[in-house]
Amino acid sequence: MIDYRSDTVTKPTPGMLAFMQSAPVGDDVFGEDPSINSLERISAAKFGMEAGLFCPSGTMTNQLAIKTHTQAGDEIICDELSHIYQYEGGGIAFNSGCSVKLLHGDRGRITAEHILAGINPEDVHKPITRLVSLENTSNRGGGACYNFSHFEAIKQLTDTHGLALHLDGARIFNAIVHKKEASVEYGKIFDSISICLSKGLGAPVGSVLVGSNDFIKKARRWRKVFGGGMRQAGYLAAAGIYALEHHVERLAVDHENAKILSSVLVKKGFVNDLLEVETNIVIASIGGKYSAASFVAALKEKGVLAIAMTPTQVRFVFHLDITETDLAKTIDVINTL
Ligand SMILES: *Cc1c(COP(=O)(O)O)cnc(C)c1O
Repeated sequence: MIDYRSDTVTKPTPGMLAFMQSAPVGDDVFGEDPSINSLERISAAKFGMEAGLFCPSGTMTNQLAIKTHTQAGDEIICDELSHIYQYEGGGIAFNSGCSVKLLHGDRGRITAEHILAGINPEDVHKPITRLVSLENTSNRGGGACYNFSHFEAIKQLTDTHGLALHLDGARIFNAIVHKKEASVEYGKIFDSISICLSKGLGAPVGSVLVGSNDFIKKARRWRKVFGGGMRQAGYLAAAGIYALEHHVERLAVDHENAKILSSVLVKKGFVNDLLEVETNIVIASIGGKYSAASFVAALKEKGVLAIAMTPTQVRFVFHLDITETDLAKTIDVINTL
């Protein structure tokens, strides 16, 4: 099976496994795991931040950021497609007791103007707007990236209004590689960033939250409360270190391959429309002889796995374990349909 369902399906490479096995470990709740300490330091430095916090999942790093930035009763502003709203089980309400102001952006991206209109006035009826959360790249937006100048405009606005600014950077390296950005610049814009090590980078587990020393100290306390304090998890952190060293630059290959697949799909009669490919995600609108579900079923019969995101949209995600040969086979399959 050639698996495009998600960039989370990758398996550790032999090199990664060997590196994991040789990792020095200790009890991280005592702050004594050298591999976790080093992953946290490396991640923070990459983004021009003071400190990092290793967690099992991107959901946990996002939820910890929200918990740390807010108090119960506050309101968060984000795009309606955001992972923090769509795919974290209502955690904003459950973990932090906050409400959400959803904005209608462009493929998951919102602008300073949108946000300004969403900030509540000083009024006893209204929840207090406390946090703005952005997502780069946008998952539901089909891997769309922000232009950095939009971040700068948003930062100016959140500073003016005293709001915290969080980035869900589960696929931030896809954006950085695509836009040829300097990762340290992100630290000048955001108060906190969550990054994923298991999205296309090949690590089996892991996400890091980065921010100021004070912010991460508070988040570390909440991580314990959330049940995320781990012990000799340095074996997992080592996979993350290896991924950051070896699997970031190659994301450009995924982006190229995604473009090639989209150029094949666009020619098919049953593809009505395609979101323009920016990074590693291809989203096609299916019509004619197939529904999204029947197209996915036809692909599966021929050894290709994709996901029906909606009744009409199918998503393919490129990652470390999709080779050029896999892509060639996939194109052959699609051309028989
Ligand atoms: C995958 C993902 C996350 C984190 O999800 P986990 O499965 O909890 O690691 C967060 N944000 C976005 C945009 C994602 O795609």
